[in-house]
Amino acid sequence: MPEATLAAVVEELETLYDPAWAESWDAVGLVCGDPAAAVRRVLFAVDPVRTVVDEALAWGADLVVTHHPLYLRGTTSVAATTFKGRVVHTLIKNDVALYTAHTNADVADPGVSDALARAVGLTGDLVPLRPAADDPRRGLGRIGSLAEPVTLAEFAARAAAGLPRTAWGLRVAGDPDRRVRRIAVSGGAGDSLLGTARAAGVDAFLTADLRHHPASEFVEAGGPALLDAAHWATEWPWLGQAAALLTSVLGARGITVETRVSETVTDAWTTTAQCEDTK
Ligand SMILES: [Zn+2]
Repeated sequence: MPEATLAAVVEELETLYDPAWAESWDAVGLVCGDPAAAVRRVLFAVDPVRTVVDEALAWGADLVVTHHPLYLRGTTSVAATTFKGRVVHTLIKNDVALYTAHTNADVADPGVSDALARAVGLTGDLVPLRPAADDPRRGLGRIGSLAEPVTLAEFAARAAAGLPRTAWGLRVAGDPDRRVRRIAVSGGAGDSLLGTARAAGVDAFLTADLRHHPASEFVEAGGPALLDAAHWATEWPWLGQAAALLTSVLGARGITVETRVSETVTDAWTTTAQCEDTK
């Protein structure tokens, strides 16, 4: 079996997640690493943070593929005086490359929301909630169906069971007894898709990072029920999908790499406390 080079792995990642599909404000692709370096172990994670770098070093990863970019805006320094600079230094000193597939992975087919849809129990065909202009098979979010109609409370319980555990869990807006079957999902912050979900006529929309006013007005206006999960949890299911796809496309070239999905919870919110009932 030939050994994978970073260049060969990046080539396959960019076929699965074409950088041209990324939003104009995004920063995707190779952050650090030598294209000629050998890659035997690839760690997949949502966030390029210290705990994930620690995990990469402990496992002996040669490449870390993350969903979120390390540097999103222009930077003139990678000095180890900031946590981001420290991440870059630690990776380079240990010969570990970093690669980001962000909004280009969101709109891929399959992409982030396909994995989320399956994780929360949607079956059958999935179609983009907001299809890409150049290819309607790709796009943001996905619409799918449950095998049979259930109450919103039941769907919430199933969705929570299908997602990794976080302090945030899952919040629900809408009548818990309402029946739902046709569901839209979008991994990550889905505020901007609220109107699209309403126009699509789905029974519920599951995403992350929803705010009070848009959510309240949406439900008051008779829109679909809303489910708000932890941002990290909505994107985590993609890691396994991406790892399997990369293994498969490299395998077709006769190249073997070992992949691993990080189970380190890097959601920003780490604990919750419930308030007392009003007296
Ligand atoms: Zn995200």
